[in-house]
Amino acid sequence: AKDQGRNAVAAFTPAMKAATEHRMSLENELRHALERGEFELFYQPKLTIDNRLVGAEALVRWRHPERGLVSPAVFVPVCEEIGLIGDIGAWVIESAARQQVRWRDQGHRLQVALNLSPRQLAGTQLLDTVRAVVASTGCDPRSLELEVTESMLLGNDLHTRRLLTQLSEMGFSIAIDDFGTGYSNLAYLQRYPIRTLKIDRSFVQAIGQSSTLTEVIVMMCKALNLHMVAEGVERADQLAWLAERGVHEYQGFLFSPPLPVAEFDQLLSVTDARRVA
Ligand code: C2E
Ligand code: MG
Ligand code: MG
Repeated sequence: AKDQGRNAVAAFTPAMKAATEHRMSLENELRHALERGEFELFYQPKLTIDNRLVGAEALVRWRHPERGLVSPAVFVPVCEEIGLIGDIGAWVIESAARQQVRWRDQGHRLQVALNLSPRQLAGTQLLDTVRAVVASTGCDPRSLELEVTESMLLGNDLHTRRLLTQLSEMGFSIAIDDFGTGYSNLAYLQRYPIRTLKIDRSFVQAIGQSSTLTEVIVMMCKALNLHMVAEGVERADQLAWLAERGVHEYQGFLFSPPLPVAEFDQLLSVTDARRVA
């Protein structure tokens, strides 16, 4: 009744019971998934606009014993709500850093990007976590990129500004994910130490039909001297359009979806990846 705007009467239905039970079992299973080793990182290749493989975005998956691969769009919000994102987020940072070092040791120079969630950024653990990860893995912070979304930067609070400044001073690069889908107060672009702007898939999709906004975003990035990454590139004509306008990097199904590590390794063995001198 509250969900319907309060001041109402609602009858409990069997469907509600099923939904509640589903949600409770999901929560329960999530609480054990980390210790059971059910999380896995997939990596989506990131390429320069002229097709050199230069990086990867780590995207978490939950390999559920019965449900199969569960998308982060389903379980990350639940983890946020029930306070699990801190632990899972720390696991993501550690695993991504370890993988970056493994590739480095194999002679591949790849920047690994990972996604941070609002709670991680708002909390007090992140700096300690990344320091511990850098110490234990030997990963160079300059080879990791931390993705945050616009809405996480809206508040302009001192905590966020200090945190991002410290992370940036340690060498991490900070990227804005899904750019253009959040709010329109662009002041944060100059207030925070942002290096990269990831142009949201919707603006890439618009290329060829209504690309005015995409054009504006590219122009703005250039004026602000930001590194530009296009997300969700699916067609060759989109890539050509982005290349013509000087966008630096891209990722998307055109080249590859996110891959399990073994498949990414296979790709590395056949691709002309940049080798460490
Ligand atoms: P995102 O960071 O914007 O990641 C890009 C999403 O677009 C990924 O979905 C990727 O599989 C998908 N994608 C990539 N290329 C294409 C394409 O060409 N076409 C289409 N249609 N889709 C493409 P995914 O892996 O399901 O992740 C969804 C979202 O979940 C991510 O969006 C990110 O916000 C969140 N997420 C993923 N991993 C993590 C994590 O470790 N921590 C946190 N906090 N969030 C995560
Ligand atoms: Mg991302
Ligand atoms: Mg994105």
